Amino acid sequence: MIIAMKPAASLREITAVIARLEDLGVTPTVSKNEDATIIGIVGGRKGLELAPVAQMPGVAQFVETQSPFKRVSRDYHPEDTVVRAGPLTLGGGGFAVVAGPCAIESEQQIQDVAARVKALGATGLRGGAFKPRSSPYSFQGMGEEGLKFMQRAGKAHGLATVSEVMNVRQIEIMVRYIDVLQVGARNMQNFDLLKELGGAGKPVMLKRGLSATIEELLLAAEYIINSGNPNVILCERGIRTFETETRNTLDISAVPLCKQLSHLPIIIDPSHAAGRRDLIKPLTLAGIAAGADGAIIEVHPCPDKAFSDGKQSLTYEQFGQVMAGVAPLVEAMRGAKS
Ligand code: PEP
Ligand code: MN
Repeated sequence: MIIAMKPAASLREITAVIARLEDLGVTPTVSKNEDATIIGIVGGRKGLELAPVAQMPGVAQFVETQSPFKRVSRDYHPEDTVVRAGPLTLGGGGFAVVAGPCAIESEQQIQDVAARVKALGATGLRGGAFKPRSSPYSFQGMGEEGLKFMQRAGKAHGLATVSEVMNVRQIEIMVRYIDVLQVGARNMQNFDLLKELGGAGKPVMLKRGLSATIEELLLAAEYIINSGNPNVILCERGIRTFETETRNTLDISAVPLCKQLSHLPIIIDPSHAAGRRDLIKPLTLAGIAAGADGAIIEVHPCPDKAFSDGKQSLTYEQFGQVMAGVAPLVEAMRGAKS
């Protein structure tokens, strides 16, 4: 249930409504957007008990909502949320591309990739320093040293940096070096991590879990927002299905669905969805057509020598071909919307 206050409602009227709700034993959550205050009742009681609240000064209307999530919901926040990190803007109409290697492998590698993807139109630089690998014997990432390389590369080339935080203990070090903290698919329901990221002071890119429903993804985002961080970017990175030709199945319907249900920006990760480089361009274009706010794409100076995810990583030339397809489609979509 949502109580929309009139745009002109005074602070006193809002406070009175909140106090009344608390008296009734419900826990109100208050969200303010540019033109109104919205009071959500989490786990609230419906019907007659609340009827007198509807008569209180300043109340515009009661809206019944079936949605299990509150703050991520469009009902609570009708306008698109725009998340900004330096040159990277996600949400509000454009299409931003974050590109880079799966893992930071050396300073030279990340500097080289940064220069090339920037020249081809990326505004964000990706690269993992802490890698969630299926095998404990696989390369686990360069750790703090890698983060330093990443920070220098981002600064040198004017790119926002995006890197994965795997646990609560890493948050402190990540915020020191990185602009956007990525929560990986395997951690989407690490609720302690999500809650701690509420206080991180940096935007969070939340990847959909390998077998998570859209509702679970949005509830995971709700944890971060509830803990105080409104700057959440959703990421559809493919889900596990019976199909074996691709590493995962890009659930393209997640894009328009999340847009309908939530005000948060959503990007796609065609690299981890497909697991193969020949599908990156068509999937990226499909993401644009479906209304995504951006894409995160793996690019490597020499994919065949990559420490991880080489099969899905693009060469600079291939990334250039993707970007050549992106610009005209973004333009065409702009025309289609207006
Ligand atoms: C990654 O982005 O490198 C990664 C490990 O992604 P995911 O969590 O989606 O598997
Ligand atoms: Mn990867």
